[in-house]
Amino acid sequence: DFSVSLPLRSNDELGELAKSIQTLANDLYYMKQERNEFLASISHELRTPLTYIKGYADIAKRTDLEFQERTQYLNIIHEESERLNHLLEELFDLAKMDQNTFSIAKERVHLYPFLHSIYKKYLPAFENKKIQLQFNCDNDLFVDLDPARFEQVILNLLDNALKYSKMGTVASIEAFKKEDNVQVALSDQGMGIPQEEMPYIFDRLYRVEKSRSRETGGYGLGLAIAKQVVDIHGGTISVESSIGQGTRFTIALKENYK
Ligand code: ADP
Repeated sequence: DFSVSLPLRSNDELGELAKSIQTLANDLYYMKQERNEFLASISHELRTPLTYIKGYADIAKRTDLEFQERTQYLNIIHEESERLNHLLEELFDLAKMDQNTFSIAKERVHLYPFLHSIYKKYLPAFENKKIQLQFNCDNDLFVDLDPARFEQVILNLLDNALKYSKMGTVASIEAFKKEDNVQVALSDQGMGIPQEEMPYIFDRLYRVEKSRSRETGGYGLGLAIAKQVVDIHGGTISVESSIGQGTRFTIALKENYK
């Protein structure tokens, strides 16, 4: 509701100044709009688990409940609190990244053992869903990265591969050298991402079909965080996907030698 229009159009320094101010005012306007939209979505996201928590707490208070029934409600309350906690943690990380107070502690990491331990940690979740998880990593790759932050990135991507794939499919973790870079790729044979949605999937709170994610538990922050963390590492993250065929995320990082 406030957009500035400066009528000064002369071809001198004053005109130039007016143009700069105009651009600045427009940027501010869009930033404010974006912030409002973000806050509105966040409030909405917070409300859903809180509604569950309050509702089930009300029921669990009833005195005529069987022990088992009460336990079931308390479990739901617990799960929803965890979701809420997870969401708040992610939001907090994003806020820190915005203020440049998100610190990373880089160290030289030998990729093979690093990725292999993540692979082993995640294998049971894939086996549970009857998805074959493959591991294929060159042995001589070294990169400077923050292991904890980077593990979070890989987990977010693996989590998506798991959420958006059906049983009987194959997913993989790969790492190899390509030109001057080390590439880490996470692939799945899941439902894929519509071409027109691809430009937005790294945006905060963006989810392809809201229903797809609500039932799988996501808030649309995982990829936004993954991208920011990779950016802070000086790397890039890209995606290729085709509907019904699968998705492949590739992280490219500078190689460092031992
Ligand atoms: P969410 O927590 O909802 O999964 P993300 O930021 O991780 O949020 O992902 C954003 C959207 O991108 C998701 O809603 C999902 O629809 C889509 N997406 C991400 N990864 C995959 C994948 N491997 N296969 C299919 N769709 C995916």
